[in-house]
Amino acid sequence: QKPVPCATTQKVVECVKEGATRHEPEGYMGLSQYRAAGGYKMLEQCLSGARDVEAVIGTMENSGLRGLGGAGFPTGRKWRIVRNEPAPRLMAVNIDEGEPGTFKDRVYLERDPHRFLEGMLIAAWAVGIDAIYIYLRDEYHGCRELLQQELARLAADPPSKGLPRIELRRGAGAYICGEESAMIESIEGKRGMPRLRPPYVAQVGLFGRPTLEHNFETLYWVRELLERGPEWFASKGANGRKGLRSFSVSGRVRNPGVKLAPAGVTIQELIDEYCGGMADGHEFYGYLPGGASGGILPASMNEIPLDFDTLQPYGCFIGSAAVVVLSDQDSAVGAARNLMRFFRDESCGQCTPCRAGTAKALALINQPKWDLPLLAELSQVMRDASICGLGQAAPNPVDCVVKYFPHELA
Ligand code: SF4
Repeated sequence: QKPVPCATTQKVVECVKEGATRHEPEGYMGLSQYRAAGGYKMLEQCLSGARDVEAVIGTMENSGLRGLGGAGFPTGRKWRIVRNEPAPRLMAVNIDEGEPGTFKDRVYLERDPHRFLEGMLIAAWAVGIDAIYIYLRDEYHGCRELLQQELARLAADPPSKGLPRIELRRGAGAYICGEESAMIESIEGKRGMPRLRPPYVAQVGLFGRPTLEHNFETLYWVRELLERGPEWFASKGANGRKGLRSFSVSGRVRNPGVKLAPAGVTIQELIDEYCGGMADGHEFYGYLPGGASGGILPASMNEIPLDFDTLQPYGCFIGSAAVVVLSDQDSAVGAARNLMRFFRDESCGQCTPCRAGTAKALALINQPKWDLPLLAELSQVMRDASICGLGQAAPNPVDCVVKYFPHELA
């Protein structure tokens, strides 16, 4: 066996499987294993007319499934909106996964790619899609190899004739290309810069056509949701919330990783029940509930249900559920500086409040004494006047430090 890059670790390892061209994680579901486990039956039912489009969209609506890339738009409603737009309609799938701390899509993709592909094809059928563009993070070399292999297998032995054309496109490492309209620009071969809305991509998206845009994980759940029914998914929440969330937990916990937990779980429950507690020698100090832009909260606020909408009153949001746990060996100021440097570097530069604002904010918080009135004014301008979510949310970590970690500024 010649050494091949492992999709999980990205390291070059000796492949352990006879005849395999790439290393596959334990339990990997290739096309044959997926079919043997009942895979593509749901899609076949849809394509053969045994399932009704209205009923399928209704199931998605009733389940409460929301866009799991971070925006949280209701999935069923999105399908209905794009379906009502004139054909030809296109689909763009976002596997850019650029949010710092997020790795759930990669973990699922490396293990069960056809579950995602089946969900994608069911969505395409329900909405009436002519062509699908999958936008994959360029750093995911192993995933690219894997997807190319599985798409080729599917094309050679499709569940049905007349499937839409599927194209796999590589990103180029820009954080902003995870924003749906910037991703569409990038797929079109242009520099990835967010568009002004309206019009929304559901109406005027890829190549000027109505476009159904989805994150990988949203599509990953479609098959199971249709098989088990909307009540199954809706009943999974905790603390008054509905559904399941895949939390990418990293930082100072004993067992970091992707944790499938009820929507509404608290950070304390996540740490204690899903991550084996804090890492040895570390005391829980604070957490980022939603990656780089979702803000920073102190350990004392450990009872907030983690879900869409629940964090808004605190100036935070869950986004793609990338939870980073900080300990007494970290500082919120240090985290905020790190994050603002990231936003300054990743700003696409199209609008002044973000391009100049992130650089100005970084310069201000790199001072030993923060100019709080000026920072507050700058945050407000960035929120009000930036074109997209990057500039609007960039002040979140800084504002959280001022609100929740004032002792660090004393
Ligand atoms: Fe670009 Fe930032 Fe403006 Fe978004 S907010 S369009 S990333 S400059």
